[in-house]
Amino acid sequence: MGNRIIYLDHAATTYVKPEVFEAMKPYFTEHFGNASSIYSLGRESKKAIEEAREKVAKALKSEAREIYFTGSGSEADNWAVKGVAAANRKKGNHIITSAIEHPAIMNACKYLEGEGFEVTYLPVDSDGAVSLEDLKKAIKDTTILISIMFANNEIGTIQPIQEIGAIAREKGIIFHTDAVQAVGNVDIDVNKLNIDLLSLSGHKFYGPKGVGALYVKKGVRITSFIHGGAQERGKRASTENLPGIIGLGKAIELATENMEAYNKKLLDLREKTIEGLMAKVPYIRLNGHRSSRLPGNVNISFQYIEGESLLLMLDMLGVCGSSGSACSSGSLDPSHVLMAIGLPHEIAHGSLRLTFGDVNTQEDVDFILEEIPKIVSRLRDMSPLYEAVKNKK
Ligand SMILES: *Cc1c(COP(=O)(O)O)cnc(C)c1O
Repeated sequence: MGNRIIYLDHAATTYVKPEVFEAMKPYFTEHFGNASSIYSLGRESKKAIEEAREKVAKALKSEAREIYFTGSGSEADNWAVKGVAAANRKKGNHIITSAIEHPAIMNACKYLEGEGFEVTYLPVDSDGAVSLEDLKKAIKDTTILISIMFANNEIGTIQPIQEIGAIAREKGIIFHTDAVQAVGNVDIDVNKLNIDLLSLSGHKFYGPKGVGALYVKKGVRITSFIHGGAQERGKRASTENLPGIIGLGKAIELATENMEAYNKKLLDLREKTIEGLMAKVPYIRLNGHRSSRLPGNVNISFQYIEGESLLLMLDMLGVCGSSGSACSSGSLDPSHVLMAIGLPHEIAHGSLRLTFGDVNTQEDVDFILEEIPKIVSRLRDMSPLYEAVKNKK
């Protein structure tokens, strides 16, 4: 004990799989040609990029020409929201999103509010799900875009994407989904799910950091994100991140091939953890939907303790997790997601997110089920609030 690391923060990022790294390597050193160059070294790069594009398209069941590579998931989100807003401004200025989006969507929408757009932030229920009725009511004649995330990065709740897409389609409104957490965990068919735009990011499914993609259904109006050369069909200029794109392609291919077994494994670890903690620790609450949730996501609030203290004590045991305020580190405010599902501040502050991945084992679960209850009771023993609760009994 002490030098072993138990990594339970796969929603924050994943390691790069060795097969992915191997696939990337030649594109740093030998096959470094600029994909825009005419000689064969360049043409090979071009070919490799197009193969990676095919792999992304296959994973989403879209066409390759509907896939655009970006510099990250955040970039894909920004491009989707700002690009659709700008290209469709003549039709209207109203955007609908949810109160629990990733900051990449939330802050892009805030920016657009400053540019004269009107944004509705749909509330969510106590499980973190948006209501289709609320969505229908929020639609106006001026609504041009609905952007609702596929699965939440903090509490794991999966939204009714197909139904949201159907509502948008019926009204002729463009529908974007931030699927950064969903890709690799959920089977995605953009046509079946009525999705017009979808964001994804390589480092959330064992690919490299700093590369993402945006699916844009053909015919959807969107402005260019980076003006420059003709790369990405003139919509996102700049010399391609060749190794990154190759890595993303390999990673999404592996993720799609292994999804069933991967999901099964994660689901088992998730359920054992949730059930184990619920049985062993009093005064706790599971955040996020009980079943419509990402297979590897556990998010639990422990009353009468600080999530940060719990995390630090877990870190001393080599366990990497995340708390309810880690996303906005530097700020003492609890996460906007935990606020949106209606948690009081003091409960939101005692939250812990554990997200499983392919390196985790039953032993990891046994270890945390042994250690977390001990840490929680030690921390609670130091809490005057908990003392008062105990004495009342
Ligand atoms: C990680 C994440 C992003 C941002 O992706 P980056 O590639 O890190 O910029 C966006 N949305 C969600 C839901 C995420 O989990």
